[in-house]
Amino acid sequence: MAATEHCWDCLIIGGGPAGLTAATYLCRFHRSCLVVDAGESRARWIPESNNCPGFPDGIRGPRLLQRLHQHAGSYGVTLEKGLVDRVSVDGGEFVVCAGARSWRARTVILASGIKDQLPPYAWVEQAIAQRALRLCAVCDAYEATDLRIGVYGRLDKLISHARFLRTFSAQVLLLPTDAGDEQDRQAAAAAGLPILPPGELEFDGRRIAHRARAGARTVLDAVYACLGSNTAAELVTAIGARVSEAGEIEVDRYQMTAVDGVYAIGDIVSGLNQIAVAFGHAAVAACHLHAGLPRTERDLIQPA
Ligand SMILES: Cc1cc2nc3c(=O)[nH]c(=O)nc-3n(C[C@H](O)[C@H](O)[C@H](O)COP(=O)(O)OP(=O)(O)OC[C@H]3O[C@@H](n4cnc5c(N)ncnc54)[C@H](O)[C@@H]3O)c2cc1C
Repeated sequence: MAATEHCWDCLIIGGGPAGLTAATYLCRFHRSCLVVDAGESRARWIPESNNCPGFPDGIRGPRLLQRLHQHAGSYGVTLEKGLVDRVSVDGGEFVVCAGARSWRARTVILASGIKDQLPPYAWVEQAIAQRALRLCAVCDAYEATDLRIGVYGRLDKLISHARFLRTFSAQVLLLPTDAGDEQDRQAAAAAGLPILPPGELEFDGRRIAHRARAGARTVLDAVYACLGSNTAAELVTAIGARVSEAGEIEVDRYQMTAVDGVYAIGDIVSGLNQIAVAFGHAAVAACHLHAGLPRTERDLIQPA
């Protein structure tokens, strides 16, 4: 690397609610900040969020992202489209690569979110847009109050999820992708959760129905997929960050990983995948990161 190569104060991997909020804070601290983003925020799928603070009339995910971009952009953040595939350490700085491109940074924030595992149907994105298929009960189960709700996934993963959904509706049905074991079937029965027989999901453009192999068809107002997710945590575990048994990156109370100067924020860290949580993580990480970088008081760089 050339000795003169630019070194960013912070490189943020991921431009969703977490990464863009961190960028806004850092730019407002007069820090140089680059966001490298693959452009697949989970928020792009939100048909309308009704629990995002400050939007009592709801806001569509793409519109929220647009406003977050606009906000960070107004303070001069630099955004590069790209998929980061490697982070390494060189001479006390971080080197972040996306294919043939690379950047140097004093600190790194990993804000790359999660990638949902989805049911294996071509109509999945259309069903999400129609709110027929949902991915987050905390986000939008209120809007399914007293409706008929299905929960789809491995039986052992469904029961606690279904019990939470009972907060919103008495009609919660399990749509397991496997037979599960006797203990899980007993737990479902004890909780009063009906299990639909093996079958397929169908989507008619408005609602999802479960069709049992034996032929019975059950129409559902909303189906929650509960299939797990993947992350890009290996980008930072490769340089020493640690991951919990649950697969979440371990961070301290300032969102810093086990690697000094490397932070993780948003869905990639928390089991509570919420925009408000992403915002909070971003604010905490950005303030701590700023305090740890070389001082930039105005009188040091602009003597009177
Ligand atoms: C259908 C749906 C409805 C939802 N509704 C709500 C709601 O109503 N209220 C609420 O609070 N939350 C809701 N959520 C959750 C919310 O979208 C997430 O909590 C939020 O988007 C998390 O922000 P994030 O920045 O951590 O991750 P993301 O928004 O997922 O952004 C991560 C970004 O990093 C990028 N990226 C990933 N890997 C790399 C890489 N290697 N290099 C570069 N970039 C990378 C991704 O492409 C993406 O742009 C919903 C989610 C879904 C799917």
